[in-house]
Amino acid sequence: MIDRTSISWESPADAHRLPLADRTPRLAEARRPTVIGEDMRLGRESPPIDLHNLVRTLFPIPRSITGAGVRTTLDILREYVPVSIENVPSGTCVLDWDVPPEWNVRGATICTLDGRVLVDFKTNNLHLVGYSRPVHDVVSRDELARHVHTLPDQPDLIPYRTGYFSRDWGFCLTHNLWLTMNDDSYRVDIDSDLQSGSLTYGELFLPGQVDEEVLISAHICHPSLANDNLSGIAVATALAIRQSKQQRRLGYRFLFIPATIGAITWLARNEMLLPRIKHGLVLTCIGDPGPFHYKQSRKGAEIDRAVAHVLRHSDHEHAILAFNPYGYDERQFCSPSFDLPVGCLMRAVHGTFPEYHTSADDLSFVEPEALNQSFALLAAVLDLLENNVTYARTDGRGEPQLGRRGLYRSIAGQKDAGGPSELDLLWLLNLADGKHDLLEMADRANVPVSRLHAAATLALRADLVRPVTT
Ligand SMILES: [Zn+2]
Repeated sequence: MIDRTSISWESPADAHRLPLADRTPRLAEARRPTVIGEDMRLGRESPPIDLHNLVRTLFPIPRSITGAGVRTTLDILREYVPVSIENVPSGTCVLDWDVPPEWNVRGATICTLDGRVLVDFKTNNLHLVGYSRPVHDVVSRDELARHVHTLPDQPDLIPYRTGYFSRDWGFCLTHNLWLTMNDDSYRVDIDSDLQSGSLTYGELFLPGQVDEEVLISAHICHPSLANDNLSGIAVATALAIRQSKQQRRLGYRFLFIPATIGAITWLARNEMLLPRIKHGLVLTCIGDPGPFHYKQSRKGAEIDRAVAHVLRHSDHEHAILAFNPYGYDERQFCSPSFDLPVGCLMRAVHGTFPEYHTSADDLSFVEPEALNQSFALLAAVLDLLENNVTYARTDGRGEPQLGRRGLYRSIAGQKDAGGPSELDLLWLLNLADGKHDLLEMADRANVPVSRLHAAATLALRADLVRPVTT
């Protein structure tokens, strides 16, 4: 048995010792500079791992906001990236909340009195309401009805329900099964623990050349739900692998946290570093093949412009949603005293698709190609943030002579490779006033930022512009 905690991420030799080789990225490649190029324009960069395979691996694990399922999930992620595991004791005061007791479950069934198992947590972990307290009892059907959740309008599906702070118990089952349960009494067994322990989350920080950081956050508290939970985890993991191989101007901080209480806990423990977070994204529901939806940050930020730009120049159907105080952990990151520049990328929007929080959010709902598209889109966004420089003309008086500097020839030479046009260069030279970043220039010129980046590279070589530190 390999002690996975002892494996060094930085050591290619160790990397070859990693188990589950088919799930493991090749770590030995040299870091490559970040370039806005072909991939950015086309958004077709392939992920470094099989995303759907990672979703499949994580799918059966019974997760909640605390407990062994979260730790098992993080242990698997550590086979890919060196996520540090943080354990925060139950009862710890975090902002206006307390870290809850830890919940673990070994089994839960509803049986007939003659011993037939009708509902079993082991066949589907959605069957048990999250944070159900231990119960071993015979209950009347009327009593059981008060603890059963079904979906009459979707009678074949099992709903997902939790009761973190209710100290109650409950089962979720298909409505069709419930309609057949007409005995007077049933045997209920819930073999669970609800006791002092810890809240566990994972964090990975990849330092950059500057103190500014990009925050990428995914929640890890849902049990067997593929899109709402695992798609974000898988894509965030792939992005962490990718960014670890890049030359990074910005730092990247990846959080794998239980929703709400995990974000609140992380924020409470990290207030000092929050000013460094210049861009942030919550990733969720990005494995279905539907249109992309980007929910803007509360205050309006560069990340909002960056995601909108990449979506606009991609082939993907999409919509931009204004911030609202409902959704995922952007609610915590964008709370008024933090007000971080954090948006949320989704495909299907929580609460609006029929599979949401049901057993239909399964491995067939999440598609490999959709996951890959989401990865490629986000890779393009990160490259944009890395390269979104503000320039100023070295001498802004009038237009410079392009011919004398060989720039017409350079433009012609790069044309077939998707390089900048003469007009792109003119936009750059006009807006290089120290006030417009490349993204603003590209949006004003209505071209992909890759073209303005290429124009800037030409202008830099010709000593016509210089980067401005903002
Ligand atoms: Zn959810």
